[in-house]
Amino acid sequence: MSFSHLGLSDKVLAAVAATGYTTPTPIQEQAIPHVLARRDVLGIAQTGTGKTAAFVLPMLTLLEKGRARARMPRTLILEPTRELAAQVKEQFDKYGAGQKLNVALLIGGVSFGDQDIKLTRGVDVLIATPGRLLDHTERGGLLLTGVELLVIDEADRMLDMGFIPDIERICKMIPFTRQTLFFTATMPPEIARITETFLHNPVKIEVSRPATTAVGVSQFQVPVGREPHEKRELLRRLLREAKDLNNAIIFCNRKREVALLHKSLQKHGFSVGALHGDMDQSARTAALDQFRKGEIPLLVASDVAARGLDIPTTSHVFNFDVPHHADDYVHRIGRTGRAGRAGTAISIVTPLDQKSMIAIEKLIGQTIPRVEGHAESSAIDGPEASSGGETESPRHQRGREGSHDGAKEGSREGSRGGRKPRREREPRRAATGGRHSGPKPQAPAAAFTPPVAPAPSRTPSIGRAEAPQAPRDAASEPADHSHLPAFLLRPVRARV
Ligand code: AMP
Repeated sequence: MSFSHLGLSDKVLAAVAATGYTTPTPIQEQAIPHVLARRDVLGIAQTGTGKTAAFVLPMLTLLEKGRARARMPRTLILEPTRELAAQVKEQFDKYGAGQKLNVALLIGGVSFGDQDIKLTRGVDVLIATPGRLLDHTERGGLLLTGVELLVIDEADRMLDMGFIPDIERICKMIPFTRQTLFFTATMPPEIARITETFLHNPVKIEVSRPATTAVGVSQFQVPVGREPHEKRELLRRLLREAKDLNNAIIFCNRKREVALLHKSLQKHGFSVGALHGDMDQSARTAALDQFRKGEIPLLVASDVAARGLDIPTTSHVFNFDVPHHADDYVHRIGRTGRAGRAGTAISIVTPLDQKSMIAIEKLIGQTIPRVEGHAESSAIDGPEASSGGETESPRHQRGREGSHDGAKEGSREGSRGGRKPRREREPRRAATGGRHSGPKPQAPAAAFTPPVAPAPSRTPSIGRAEAPQAPRDAASEPADHSHLPAFLLRPVRARV
């Protein structure tokens, strides 16, 4: 099957050819003809399947006819996070280069004024996060009565982030006669319910079983003691010893942990960026750009901030924290092994994470091989006094349920009237298992060398007593820059 059989316009086909893609992916092959025939589509597909082009390409074809009117966008795409919205815009820029279309982004962190100017000029494609879109409609600067086509992307993530009531409100503002394209990676009951309200006689396309992990990704779990400093030490060691590491995303469960680990890795000489929902937009964009361009090989991230980001060359994913929800595991490790590439996913597992790992293995239907690792000797990191800042302990980690990265994603920052940000909460879907009959063992691949001379995680170094297990402050850990592969090193700038 080639793109030319799908009914796309010549302009769009030329743009696709220019990108070098020759064969449509299954979701593209199945969805594009139906979108062009103006059918509603329910696409059950994860990121990495080519689903964005599955709606961008036919939309570009459909938009060739007609013109936008001031403040009345012709099409609307809803995304859960700013980064995803920006990523979709990039695809319009890429494939729509030959067309004079106005594509606007309505996301938090960008001034209302600039966005208003764009809307006034008339917009063919409006890509928005729900909160910011509602702010504009409430200010009267935007009318949704001209929307002919609506895309709801990453619907299950919208559910996790509490955006469904907003989506329901938005849908009520759009004519009933619209065409709706609805994409979700999973089908929890709440999503199944809303598809019945939002979609009219949809074509259902399911391209991969939900909650399966990519075939080319080798997965490992490395046990570690429960102290945070042990986890950090182990991570550094894994980073140094990882085979074929090109770049890596390191996931933490909480924003605060992202910031701490980022600081700690920097201190230890790693070239590393951070991505979480509390960072301002320009810092997020800068970190992501640097990572994409390969200027920094490591990115510490939270789930929501990194969700769905398309970074094709990520070779390794580290779970610094095992996710509480098994489906987050699948999304995280989906950052590697994209487009048929090999990838490695390594989870750092404390005794407290055992239950979560069992749920993950049940969900993905395979056993994740355990390789022994051990924290670096305390001779390297030494005992530390707390710097007086916040300290960490497993209890502390477990007790922070209120801190959720979704708080700012797509929420109405900067909105008038002093409305509170969207409620902060962890994604609520249960880490349910039972979809598969039972775990199957997975053969370890060569992309990761299990550490040699395994030792129990709490073994003291030879000739030295183990440091007292006082809580440590990540930033106070003495830096060990030895043995770092050169490309992982932070460039040292001379002080002026
Ligand atoms: P998505 O699922 O939309 O996040 O896309 C995942 C990746 O697949 C992106 O890097 C796309 O550029 C790429 N991609 C999309 N369509 C194709 C295609 N037909 N052939 C090869 N790669 C593609």
